[in-house]
Amino acid sequence: MNLADRLLTAAERLGGRAVLTLDEAELTYGVLGELSARLAGLLRCRGIGPGDRVAIMLPNVPEFGVVYYGVLRVGAVVVPLDPLLKRREIAAYLGDCGARLLIAWHAFAETAEAGSAGTKADCFFVVPEEFRRLLRQVAPDRDVAATRDDDTAVIHYTSGTTGQPKGIELSHTNLAGNAATVARMHALGVDDVVLGALPLYHTFGQTCALNATVQAGARLTLLRRFEAGRALEVIRRDGVTVFHGVPTMFIALLDHPGASDLSMLRVCASGGAALPLDVLRAYETRFGCEIIEGYGLSETSPVAATNRGGHHRRPGSIGWPIRGVEMKIVDEDGAETPPGEIGEVVVRGPNVMKGYWNDPAGTAEAIRDGWFHTGDLGRVDEDGYFFLVDRRRDVIIRGGYTVYPREVEEVLYEHPAVRQAAVYGVPHPELGEEIEAAVALRAPVTREDLRDFVKERVAAYKYPRRLSFVDELPMSPTGKILKRALTRTPLGG
Ligand code: AMP
Repeated sequence: MNLADRLLTAAERLGGRAVLTLDEAELTYGVLGELSARLAGLLRCRGIGPGDRVAIMLPNVPEFGVVYYGVLRVGAVVVPLDPLLKRREIAAYLGDCGARLLIAWHAFAETAEAGSAGTKADCFFVVPEEFRRLLRQVAPDRDVAATRDDDTAVIHYTSGTTGQPKGIELSHTNLAGNAATVARMHALGVDDVVLGALPLYHTFGQTCALNATVQAGARLTLLRRFEAGRALEVIRRDGVTVFHGVPTMFIALLDHPGASDLSMLRVCASGGAALPLDVLRAYETRFGCEIIEGYGLSETSPVAATNRGGHHRRPGSIGWPIRGVEMKIVDEDGAETPPGEIGEVVVRGPNVMKGYWNDPAGTAEAIRDGWFHTGDLGRVDEDGYFFLVDRRRDVIIRGGYTVYPREVEEVLYEHPAVRQAAVYGVPHPELGEEIEAAVALRAPVTREDLRDFVKERVAAYKYPRRLSFVDELPMSPTGKILKRALTRTPLGG
């Protein structure tokens, strides 16, 4: 069954109730169903059908839901793009997935147009008023495309450590199952109001905020972007009961002077990066609501494990696997390690992706004997609680955003003055990690010029905030840059 069908059919009985709101703008379940059927009609007129890829580049606005479910209804595959992407990143993703259409928010028209130039994708821009007017003229297509359970619903892009785009293919079953589990675990119901603080283009926001809300018949109140003062206002104004966030958001709320009692929040769930223990404790003391920490990856739709509330919770741990999902810690040979020993976290279950788009070798490396190898290191205790220790790869998570050092390094290497470059994360109290770079030069250039060079070419959260010049980067005998040695050396500027 089609994900859109599964979610929207159940919700049709809620016709007049609000599902997606952004301040005064409101979509009811009935209108969401109607508009997504009309968009499906429009897409079919353009010849878009099962298996076609449609990229969407939209901020957290109610129209996201219309486009997302509209594309799914015709059996096409949604490729959500981060609205902060720059031209060349957009071009790389559109080219890789062979998207036929890019549906972008009007404010991103210039970059969307530039990024799609030379690709197969036509652009369609969403201007709220015009969009509704246009859809009113189109006949709704209520014929939801039949899909097999393992048909691809969404391709999520991560740039991967090689710098090549990696498309994570998630099926209708992957996504519907994960959303249903999240909704059930949090006992989400029609009276719940969920805070849409996470970006909807990311799996975390898409599953836990959008799809779980629709599954439960609840309401999602959106924030265009996360800002602590605004989030507090909306939580109080709308009586928010459920809040999924990344640690940076909990830290920002804690640091906000105006905040007080938030005990209306029934569920606060943290994921995406490690939640520092003292943040958890300070947050709970101040706001009177507990935070439960979970864990997952885009490859696992995303939730793989989570703490449960109350006395089941073990602060500092990521809990245990969700229903139907298995998780274990393995050594280099793939053998399960005894409790307490550190190894790689592997996951098996209906939430594990189909594979990487057009990359059978990458898929075979990631999923071995049915187990998805996460690249994260962890351990499990005697009671079955899992703890994350470190990331195997050098991925940097800055304020909840994943940054792949190699991608930024390659941009640095494009500058004629750069001989060697290494990008790595250093601990940061609010962001979790901050991005630094060490560069060996072959010609003179200033730090400012080099930083601006990177800044112009990648999304704003990816460029190195601090940059140092060194004579030589520390190298291992086999030619690998020793990033750990760099993180221990204080930077010059
Ligand atoms: P993404 O695919 O962008 O969702 O990022 C997945 C990565 O986020 C995982 O491989 C982990 O390294 C990290 N991550 C997710 N949840 C947690 C957590 N609770 N603690 C530490 N790291 C986490």
